[in-house]
Amino acid sequence: MSVLESFGLAGRVAVVTGGNRGLGRAFARALGEAGASVALLVRDVDGAAPTVEELEARGTRARAFRADVTSGPEVQRAVGEIVDAFGRIDILVNNAGTCVHRPALEVTDAEWNEVMETNVTGVWHCCQAFGRHMAQRGGGTIVNIGSMSALIVNRPQWQPAYNASKAAVHHLTRSLAAEWAPLGIRVNALAPGYVKTEMAPVDEPRFRQHWIDDVPMRRYATPEEIAPSVVYLASDASAFMTGSVLVIDGGYTAF
Ligand code: NDP
Repeated sequence: MSVLESFGLAGRVAVVTGGNRGLGRAFARALGEAGASVALLVRDVDGAAPTVEELEARGTRARAFRADVTSGPEVQRAVGEIVDAFGRIDILVNNAGTCVHRPALEVTDAEWNEVMETNVTGVWHCCQAFGRHMAQRGGGTIVNIGSMSALIVNRPQWQPAYNASKAAVHHLTRSLAAEWAPLGIRVNALAPGYVKTEMAPVDEPRFRQHWIDDVPMRRYATPEEIAPSVVYLASDASAFMTGSVLVIDGGYTAF
């Protein structure tokens, strides 16, 4: 297999949680471009229709399935529906996530719980439910979307719950990678820096100094700049890689 061929995903089925917008949408496009069929796991199937149409227009077989990742039963039901529709699942991208930008003394229990239930329990539900299917099939690859916020404390927006949740995602990634390597399941994490999406108001003046000027490359990323790395981690190009965290942050955590 050539280097270029090792990035190819023809014949494989990829699931992207929260793939309707932001980074998830770019991940879905990139996986489709590499040849995969794409299932979007979303809270609002009708709302995801434009993304499904866009993927189909680009030649990707795509469909949206409903699940809130905070619900274990909904995720388990979706696994069955995707297998019924696509026949198999080879790749899971745990992208769905949420953030609360608030100093620690102001964070409410409800906000803490929402971040943890989405970013940690949600990733856990999906890893376990899709991992069970992959184990039965003899293998697969999981890419968990972590964050550079798990590695450093970025400022000045203060997001203690988010930072802690992403650190949990990184370590869950290592735990599952070690446990599931004998099952043929690779589990890696991607840790982006600032990426312009609805979650990251990168152009707001109060954030601008730190979110742009503090980045050695002096800019934030676009989702399209992060997406190829998901293809890398999902494909045979990273065949000997598991339990790793791939940081893409314009140099932010380098100093
Ligand atoms: P967005 O806010 O643009 O998108 C978040 C996505 O997650 C939406 O599709 C949303 O769906 C979905 N989602 C949230 N909660 C749930 C849930 N309970 N069940 C199912 N889907 C859910 O964020 P980004 O695209 O920026 O973020 C994507 C991932 O990348 C997140 O994990 C984030 O933490 C991570 N990340 C982002 C960075 C950035 O700078 N943007 C940097 C580092 C990491 P809905 O449309 O229904 O709300």
